Amino acid sequence: MPVPEPGDVLYFSFDDGPSPTWTPRVLDLLGTYHATATFFQIGQEAARAPDLVDQVRERGHSVGNHTWSHPDLTTLSSEDVREQLTRTHDVIGLARCVRPPMGVTNASVQEVFTDLGLTEQLWDIDTRDWDHRSAQEIASAVLSQARSGAVVLMHDGGGDRSQTVEALTELLPRLTEAGWQIRGIPGC
Ligand SMILES: [Zn+2]
Repeated sequence: MPVPEPGDVLYFSFDDGPSPTWTPRVLDLLGTYHATATFFQIGQEAARAPDLVDQVRERGHSVGNHTWSHPDLTTLSSEDVREQLTRTHDVIGLARCVRPPMGVTNASVQEVFTDLGLTEQLWDIDTRDWDHRSAQEIASAVLSQARSGAVVLMHDGGGDRSQTVEALTELLPRLTEAGWQIRGIPGC
């Protein structure tokens, strides 16, 4: 892990929630270490747990739009892309940032984002926590690639996230004790 300069920051993001099982655990861990993050929430999950949308914001994090049902947006008509986003907007409230599912995007998808005033946000460090990685592998993906301003991708929904939570219990103390700030994505 590189030694951070004063003010060096990692931007944490969590996708595919909210999940009644995993999101509260992630929120508690972030709170313990005074860390904030951006949560790209799926509309249909948020509709099932609207209290978690509020909790995420109340605890100082930002909420981004991750579509209604997590499709590959490049396979949809512009009208359907818009529907995926506005339907989610109705549940999560105002979001400034959008993350296309799987990071798959193209010019016509981006045109709809722009129309709706949403800034597209991808990531720099993929922990691959969605791919059955162990807590150790997730943590070392972040520790080995940490550099100031990098956006880190993890998940608080969409499956069993016990390894992500476990990875955070190691990562958050190590990073904060080393002097890294952990924040949500600026402008989201
Ligand atoms: Zn996703």
